[in-house]
Amino acid sequence: MIPKVYSSEEFEEKYTYSGELGFEWSPEKTAFRLWAPTAEKAKIRLFKSGNPNAEDCFEEIEMDSDLFGTWTAEKEGNLNGVYYTFSVTVEGEEREAADPYAKAAGTNGKRSMVINLAETNPEDWEEDEGVFYGKSITDAVIYELHIRDLSSDKSSGIINKGKFLGAAEEGTKTPDGIPTGIDHIKELGVTHVHLLPSFDYGSVDESALDKPQFNWGYDPENFNIPEGSYSTDPENGAVRIREMKQMIKTFHKNGIGVVMDMVYNHVFHTEEFCLNVLVPGYFSRTDENGNYSAGSGCGNDTASERSMVKKFIVDSVKYWADEYHIDGFRFDLSGLLDIATMNEITEAVHPTHPNVIFYCEGWVMPTHVTKPVVELANQYNSEKMPGCSFFSDTIRDYLIGPAFKSEEKGFVTGKTGRKELFEECFKGMPFWCKNPTKCINYVSCHDGYTLFDRIGIACPEADFEEKIRRSNLAAAVYMLSQGVPFFQAGEEMLRRKTNPDGTAEHNSYKSPDSVNSLKWSDLSKPEYKKVFEYYKGLIRFRKAHGALRLESAGEVYSHVSVAETGAEDVFAFHIWGGAKEETAEAIFVAFNPTKEEKEIRLPVGKWKLCINGETAGTEVLSEEEKTFIIPPLCAAAMIK
Ligand code: CA
Repeated sequence: MIPKVYSSEEFEEKYTYSGELGFEWSPEKTAFRLWAPTAEKAKIRLFKSGNPNAEDCFEEIEMDSDLFGTWTAEKEGNLNGVYYTFSVTVEGEEREAADPYAKAAGTNGKRSMVINLAETNPEDWEEDEGVFYGKSITDAVIYELHIRDLSSDKSSGIINKGKFLGAAEEGTKTPDGIPTGIDHIKELGVTHVHLLPSFDYGSVDESALDKPQFNWGYDPENFNIPEGSYSTDPENGAVRIREMKQMIKTFHKNGIGVVMDMVYNHVFHTEEFCLNVLVPGYFSRTDENGNYSAGSGCGNDTASERSMVKKFIVDSVKYWADEYHIDGFRFDLSGLLDIATMNEITEAVHPTHPNVIFYCEGWVMPTHVTKPVVELANQYNSEKMPGCSFFSDTIRDYLIGPAFKSEEKGFVTGKTGRKELFEECFKGMPFWCKNPTKCINYVSCHDGYTLFDRIGIACPEADFEEKIRRSNLAAAVYMLSQGVPFFQAGEEMLRRKTNPDGTAEHNSYKSPDSVNSLKWSDLSKPEYKKVFEYYKGLIRFRKAHGALRLESAGEVYSHVSVAETGAEDVFAFHIWGGAKEETAEAIFVAFNPTKEEKEIRLPVGKWKLCINGETAGTEVLSEEEKTFIIPPLCAAAMIK
């Protein structure tokens, strides 16, 4: 039973601390500060190693009660590399846990570590400043990647398989000499890689990395520390930090931003999460009976409306931006967090990091909020969060069918029509969204089937070539739409997630590497290589045309209009230049989702075709005037 008092005004007035928490290191001494207002006593325990099972505690230091429910202690000497935990007494019971504000930790994140962070910096880290300054989020093209997937297949040619360092290996190739890893990503032309959880999560045992293990990592252990299993030595707390920074620096050197997928909405183990141990149940919401409850079904829901949870989340995001030069944040199930927290995050980060982008998985979720009025950060409230964008399940479901009904078809798999919905999506403003800068357009991410698997399920009768045309059509729609294109790594090479029994996996969160890995050797096959070239071309075309990346509703209304082609089922748009450094006078795009070729009317003028069903780019493929025969299952884009 958790006291309801945590969310009362009296408690918040008395116990909201706005200063620094955790430790402050110097060569001469280390100062500690813990927020634990319900504790009767508090102490620090110091350890020699980061192994949570080693009995090597060499000192206990009593902490002094200080302002606003905090406890402090100082220890003389250079503590760099010393491991520690906090132990508090609450209602006579001793409770020990890691530091919620820990910046380094040993194996499985159970012991925090004092660290001189300067020693973890790679060479020239001070000159590294991230990417994407002066850009709009609509200029981004985002690539969603799991650290292990990039390198775990043998054909990657990457040495540090499954590691941060593997994602930083340049010059890697398949046995056939085709670039893999970061070189592939750079060639593709995306602006950001979005890393699935790379903070310290709990579902992979870092002490048993010789055993095959895989998890997406949506189960936070330490929010402010890199995941240990992605490092070459999880026991030494400095190694994972140094290696993650090295990776980030390498992405930046290649002009690619790094987005972190942050999971503030819940924790791995409700009762074992450090803040819930040290201040019993403070971090997580409880129901009317005072019991932990997850209205969301995620095990527990974070009580972001409580002042010190909010501070914790804001401090955490700011820390990643400051210390790791992170260029963007994706918030898992933000519909469980509150709007005020999201706004405090963007207001805290943007003044010093104006390049950082923020976007949210803003589904509406049931949850038991702990204050009378808490507005939740879901997509329907997007206008109340000026700094955040939101995933569009509207365009996803429109193009491939509803997420949880895999047998249902979408626009690219045979369900034509619903023109108005197409128009809303193409303009980057589906019904819940009033501005293209707030709309993340996608058809595939880690959740659900890969695009190619989904097409295979929806169109079992289709041959390989037809499935590729459908896949390319989906990509062309979201890449040419207003808003922000986003895709799962490998979509550009027809990624599938195939179980050993041959079925497609839709929830591969703990499937083996053989299911999840990117299969680089596929790029040796001409059909796959051609799809990769198609994605490259779509991205090149998008980057070359500012009119596809407009930044306000007003611009979209005045520059993008529906074009009548005379062919039912073919949807087309006329996009006028004159906005955002657009060099073309106009762009014309058309989408034929049917299996028949269609003759369509073109707007007045001579048009240069740059994109069709199998080729995309900025090179002119043909000149067209008055009419155009658009092939079956085909996107076409022309400029004049
Ligand atoms: Ca971990």
